[in-house]
Amino acid sequence: MTQPKLSNSKLFRQACYIGGEWVGAQSGETLDVDNPANGDILGQVPNCNAQDAARAIAEADKGFQVWRKKTANERSECLYRWYQLMLDNTEDLGKLMTLEQGKPLAESKGEVQYAASFIKWFAEEARRSYGETIPGAKPDQHIVVTRQPIGVSVAITPWNFPAAMITRKAGAALAAGCSMIVKPAEATPYTALALAHLSAEAGIPAGVLNVITGKPRPIGEAFTSSPVVRKLSFTGSTVVGGKLMAQCAEHIQKVSLELGGNAPFIVFDDADLDKAVEGAMASKFRNTGQTCVCANRFLVQDSVHDAFVEKLTAAMKKLKVGDGFEEGVNQSALINRAAVEKVTQHYEDAMSKGAQRVYGPVPEGKKGNYVEPLLLTDVTPDMQLCHEETFGPLAGIIRFKTEEEAIRIANDTPYGLAAYYYSQNIHRVWRVADGLDSGIIGVNEGAVSNATAPFGGMKASGLGREGSRHGMEEYEEIKYLCMGGE
Ligand code: ADP
Repeated sequence: MTQPKLSNSKLFRQACYIGGEWVGAQSGETLDVDNPANGDILGQVPNCNAQDAARAIAEADKGFQVWRKKTANERSECLYRWYQLMLDNTEDLGKLMTLEQGKPLAESKGEVQYAASFIKWFAEEARRSYGETIPGAKPDQHIVVTRQPIGVSVAITPWNFPAAMITRKAGAALAAGCSMIVKPAEATPYTALALAHLSAEAGIPAGVLNVITGKPRPIGEAFTSSPVVRKLSFTGSTVVGGKLMAQCAEHIQKVSLELGGNAPFIVFDDADLDKAVEGAMASKFRNTGQTCVCANRFLVQDSVHDAFVEKLTAAMKKLKVGDGFEEGVNQSALINRAAVEKVTQHYEDAMSKGAQRVYGPVPEGKKGNYVEPLLLTDVTPDMQLCHEETFGPLAGIIRFKTEEEAIRIANDTPYGLAAYYYSQNIHRVWRVADGLDSGIIGVNEGAVSNATAPFGGMKASGLGREGSRHGMEEYEEIKYLCMGGE
């Protein structure tokens, strides 16, 4: 077992944070957490069950009663301190993240800053939960609209962004006056627990932010079968999101779902190709291709196809694969064996249907879940890599002729999270923006996520938006007062 070496050893917690206390599972059971780069066991966390989850709900309910009575300014100040503590501990949080998730250390530290930016944003938004007044429907009548926190909220989060997927939910929930229980992914609980430690240091009261670890199904079922829980926010696969949404029907719990994507990345003949390659690298290879907004299908117009492939190949040659702690590495191990197998399967399926390998070695299973970056051309929409999220460093290029064809192929998917396109023609820019069915569109831009903008998808990619002023609305109820006249 190789325990993390941190400057602040209190950030490494192997217990859940519930009601302001560090606790184990009532059964005493634990789960191992490993380093995906080499399989080393980093430590254990409690394997909580439905009973533990029930306790967390009761504690979160107590926390809610305290937190909802704070002024917006008090909440804002707590959040602001939490934000500051995240920044102060960037180095340690980054190390923990690289150890449990694998991503290159520079990316981990970048994620800590990105994660903290949500807390800062919502510290500011906390004070702007404005209502409205509306002219009455009858003489002397006044209509007043107020917002109130929806109540105890739960977050179920994935492993690809172990900090940011938590803060963009918890920041919004806490700003609105809700308490929250976070259930992080089994692979990445330590970042979540470190954030909980810092929330306590920031003065966020007991029960307001709770983190529970363990196998997901019993915990999820405990959340959705409790009428005390009023909101569930989930980021993960469409299959699990759909199941949770069905479970939430029992008590009509409000849901936000950030699910899978199948992002098209379109390069038109009037694009600045160097910019397009820069965007492609950012969109495809960030987090070694393991983001839900990663370009999943490249669509390149006939006349610029070969030039784009050449430039993209040159850029890909600069990628360095290795352990996330190694200097200069920007492509790390994938999260687990199944992830490696999925990329390999997408590669083999494409090759069997006529794709050409332009760059990268044939994927082979090496110790440590590594896949070298791969570039394929002659990709066609019937290939698996065009239907499913590859979630790895495999880029496949479809050649197209007309704008209509590109939009048709781009929209030919049940998903609608992110889309990207490059064009310098303002008329085309607007036409394509109107034509794409995606919640997030990068126009001559490959990095689209930030705290100020509403993040979320259409169709099977989900419901609701995170970040921006809309993020907080997901944790609020609107209440209207009809003030009668004489
Ligand atoms: P991924 O394929 O990215 O791991 P999942 O949807 O399986 O996506 O996981 C995302 C999150 O959902 C994780 O925190 C995981 O533990 C949780 N999860 C998985 N299955 C369930 C379930 N049946 N109920 C509740 N949470 C679940």
